[in-house]
Amino acid sequence: MIVVLMGPPGAGKGTQAKRLAERYSMVHLSSGDILRAEKASGSPLAGELAKYMNAGELVPDEVVVRVMAKALTGGAKDGAVLLDGFPRTVPQAQTLDEQLVETDDAIDAVVVVTADEDLIIERITGRRSCPECGKAYHVKFMRPHKAGVCDTCGAELTQRDDDSEDVVRQRLSAYKRQTEPVVEYYRNRPGLGVWEVDGTRPADEVTASLTEVLSALKAGC
Ligand code: AMP
Repeated sequence: MIVVLMGPPGAGKGTQAKRLAERYSMVHLSSGDILRAEKASGSPLAGELAKYMNAGELVPDEVVVRVMAKALTGGAKDGAVLLDGFPRTVPQAQTLDEQLVETDDAIDAVVVVTADEDLIIERITGRRSCPECGKAYHVKFMRPHKAGVCDTCGAELTQRDDDSEDVVRQRLSAYKRQTEPVVEYYRNRPGLGVWEVDGTRPADEVTASLTEVLSALKAGC
C-alpha cells in the first residue's frame, strides 16, 4: 500500500505521519527529514540544499527525485509506504508515477491535512526542539518548565532554520503555487481516492480521522 500524505507546512503532517506509520507498520518516508539529514551531513550536496531550504524554497525537482527514488527503492520492498512531503510539484508526481509503473506499484490514496494560514504561522514560529533528545516544544502550546530549556536534558532549545515568520510565508507561498496543483493532479485521476482531513483540530482528533481513512483503505473499502 502506498499513501501520499499532503498538506501545507504546519498542518501537523509530520506528527501524524509518525503515528500512522507506527500504527499500520508503514515505512515513513519524509522528504523534509531525508533532505535535512543530507543537509546536516556535510556532503557535497549539503551546501546547495541549505540555499533552498533556509530560504523556504523548494529544492529542485531533479535533486529531490533522485534522493527520494533511492529511499523508495529501499522502503517499497517491504510493502506499505507512507510518503510525507513528496511529491510536492507536478513534475515530481509525474516522475513518481513513472517509477511506480516500473516496479508495478501504484498510489492507493492521497490524504490532505488542511490548516489555515494564521494558525500555521503561530504553530510553526513557536516550534522549538531539544538538540540532544529531539523532544518537541512550543512557546505557547507546549512550554518547557523553564523557558528555552529542555525538561529532560537541560539543553538549550533550538528553532529550525526555516521556522522564522518570513521563511514560513515563503514556504506557504511555495505550497500554494507548486503543491496545490499536485492535489488537483491526483483529484483528476479516476479511481484514486483523495481525502481531506481538518488539521486545525487537536492532534488526537486528527489522528482519529486519519485512522478511519487508513483502516477503510486496508479493509479495501
Ligand atoms: P518539510 O520538513 O516537509 O517542511 O520540508 C522542509 C524543506 O525541505 C522545504 O521547505 C523544502 O525546502 C525541502 N523539501 C522537502 N520536501 C521537498 C520536496 N518534495 N520538493 C522540494 N523541496 C522539498
